[in-house]
Amino acid sequence: MNNILKKLVSQAINKFAANAVKNKIFDEKSLNRLKNDFCKKYKITSPKNTDLIEAYRELIKRRAIKPNEKFFELIKKRKVRSLSGIASITVITKDYPCPGKCIFCPKEKGMPKSYLSNEPAIMRAILNKFDPFGQTRTRLTSLKKTGHPISKIEMIIAGGTFSYYPRKYTTEFVKRIYDALNYPKKSRNLISAQKINETAVHRCIGLSIETRPDFINEKEIKYLRELGVTKVELGVQTTYDDVLKFNKRGHTVATSVKAIQMLKDAGFKVNCHIMPGLPGSSAARDIKMFKELFSNPDFQPDWLKIYPCVVVPGSALENIWRNKKFKPYTDKQMISLLAKIKPIIPEYVRVTRLYRDIPSNSILAGPKI
Ligand code: SF4
Repeated sequence: MNNILKKLVSQAINKFAANAVKNKIFDEKSLNRLKNDFCKKYKITSPKNTDLIEAYRELIKRRAIKPNEKFFELIKKRKVRSLSGIASITVITKDYPCPGKCIFCPKEKGMPKSYLSNEPAIMRAILNKFDPFGQTRTRLTSLKKTGHPISKIEMIIAGGTFSYYPRKYTTEFVKRIYDALNYPKKSRNLISAQKINETAVHRCIGLSIETRPDFINEKEIKYLRELGVTKVELGVQTTYDDVLKFNKRGHTVATSVKAIQMLKDAGFKVNCHIMPGLPGSSAARDIKMFKELFSNPDFQPDWLKIYPCVVVPGSALENIWRNKKFKPYTDKQMISLLAKIKPIIPEYVRVTRLYRDIPSNSILAGPKI
């Protein structure tokens, strides 16, 4: 099989180069046609692009072919993941209580608050027993295997409320992320790990954590700077106090505004988590909320995650929904709302997530697409 794959890659790269000379295109369709021809001829199952990447790298190592960046782009998997030259890695913190009592938030045994065991990032964390070193190394390996550049890494720490974990745990957690990026070099402490990373092969060019607005204060900001955090994901959820109250968020809109201001003043990028469709809101109020988010300088986040409210098992909202006191958006309603929301979002804002990564079989009610 290995030799057949090498033959396939050699032929593909030759055709790719020959077509380029003639100003013709050799695209994914052309590659798939070639793959099919090989499958028929050699009676093999269709090779994955990761196999082609491995064969491509081996051929280059043996100097059987010359590197061709454009061809490599063609076989790279999910190109959008690192199109900017930066690859993101999400690592999850261990199970730990959260001070919040948000009614929409699930709690599964052994998982950090608000996360379910069948979410992709959580499954990777479970495999690595929530060890940040293992999670980072595993992800680096698979990103490399799928052809992504891994010299600039954005680390995203998710799971529960970061600022509520003991500092001994969070400091060691971050140190182990740097250690994984610096491997095989070892460090004595966080500062030495950060120093080593300044010239490491996998450089941490961004580090984000997620927390609650009422946990942002001067002391916390200083600590986040020490860790090397560059972006804070803030659970703002809504710009209405009555909605925050009904959903038992435990803080007010003023608290979110203060946190955003303090974080921006301290040089952090701010990623607001916003939840359309919360109990107490409506389509009209949600649209008004997005307008407010970007017209009112109290908010104006740099990044945005849009998490439509869904009913998941184990949340307090499940009972409310079962008692027919709450009706989440349908897919159709959500899509129509998003079509109105998206033009409101300024170009400088990056929408890093649309919907939580909850598998649809874990959603009791609400938008699933
Ligand atoms: S603060 Fe976040 S993790 Fe804690 S209960 Fe609320 S939504 Fe869940």
